[in-house]
Amino acid sequence: MKEYSYFDIGANLTHESFEKDFMEVIEEAKQNNVKRICITSTSIEDTKVSLKLLEKDQNFLITTCGIHPHYADTFKESDIEELRKLSKHPSVKAIGETGLDFNRNYSKKENQILCFESQIKVAQEQNLPLFLHQRDAHKDFMDCFNNIDLKVNAVVHCFTGNREEFYKYLDKGFWIGFTGWICDPVRGKHMVDLIANMPLERIMIETDSPYLLPKSIKIKGRRNEPKFIIEVAKKIAKLQNKSLEEITQIFFENSQRFFGL
Ligand SMILES: [Zn+2]
Repeated sequence: MKEYSYFDIGANLTHESFEKDFMEVIEEAKQNNVKRICITSTSIEDTKVSLKLLEKDQNFLITTCGIHPHYADTFKESDIEELRKLSKHPSVKAIGETGLDFNRNYSKKENQILCFESQIKVAQEQNLPLFLHQRDAHKDFMDCFNNIDLKVNAVVHCFTGNREEFYKYLDKGFWIGFTGWICDPVRGKHMVDLIANMPLERIMIETDSPYLLPKSIKIKGRRNEPKFIIEVAKKIAKLQNKSLEEITQIFFENSQRFFGL
């Protein structure tokens, strides 16, 4: 029997859709060879919820701690101290989601930038990796790293961009996270060539559950779960012309290295 190990580096398990059957979702993930899940937090409150959930299975679950750009308008100076405190929890393995989202613009641009730059500082101070979100804001996003000597790992999660953005990230030393977005024959089409030829040392995979259910999975309700991470791995394995076993091992080891586990 071949042994596969999956690491879902980003799942929104604090989402209300997991409230009723959280432990079943975890058990099913384990039965499908998921060995670790990182819960992504989007606010201070959300991080606290996440830390409560973690207590149910501390060897299996880790979390990020941070403020999503959508909530940047609520960001205040005192949140920095709060983030510092929370980030000292042994299960907090990254700062985020943080970044810029000019697609939805739920928060003002200047607030997003301030909130983002503050969290980059906290990550550097606490020596924790950054879990990054970027949508329609590539240039401003990169500008936030000008004059910064980044000493921590940083992953741009749910990559959906073009070749130029991809290699700019890699040149900057960033890591890249792919979701089920790439399994969509229409929305993922522009990335096929890129994925087929990309170097794999800093690539990781994630479900972004409950969002972005891979198109190949036909279920009622459309809720994505960590157990479906295999679909993302399969897609990349196929495009890279590698065995599922080989690709899975690369992603798992990358993820362990990224989070310093
Ligand atoms: Zn995100």
